[in-house]
Amino acid sequence: MAEEFKLSPEEAVILRTGKIGYGGGLQLPSMFNSNELILTNKNLILLKKNMFGQTEDTLYFPLSKILMANGRPQVKKSNPSHMEYALDVYFETGMESFRFEWERDIDEWVENIVSVVTGVPVQKKSDLEMMQDALAFAESMTDSVEKIQSVFGIKSTRQISCKCPSCGASLSGTKGETIQCPYCGTTYTF
Ligand SMILES: [Zn+2]
Repeated sequence: MAEEFKLSPEEAVILRTGKIGYGGGLQLPSMFNSNELILTNKNLILLKKNMFGQTEDTLYFPLSKILMANGRPQVKKSNPSHMEYALDVYFETGMESFRFEWERDIDEWVENIVSVVTGVPVQKKSDLEMMQDALAFAESMTDSVEKIQSVFGIKSTRQISCKCPSCGASLSGTKGETIQCPYCGTTYTF
């Protein structure tokens, strides 16, 4: 089998993704595409594979030929058809579109191409942001569970605490429950 691709001495692979759709003609669903896209610090490299997974052709797209606008390389995610997402890269020679199996992979590609071309490192999420995301997710899950419970007439058992709006005493109950403040008699619905 022929060498898949060549790297120059200072060239390193940053990202590599398979199942890439490229070019016109018969557009197979992404799961049947076997082309591979590689990002190095100098090029986008497309390995065009045949149905046996062998590389038939290797295309090099130099990052230096990507068009810039306001200091930002012109790379974006597009949605060329229903359920299909592509990475569009605008080169001096025209736009190249690479169809991906997973939309979220394209976000990573856009970030990394912008980073390589501009020299600004990819912003990694801090531990705090990751924790906030996890908490937000947990909260949305709890809300969904409560919605489902209410659909089936199951009372949520999550205890909520708050202060009595009249006297400021601590009250606790479950969501939707109406209680009477034991101190001042005000009724309150959680
Ligand atoms: Zn009260």
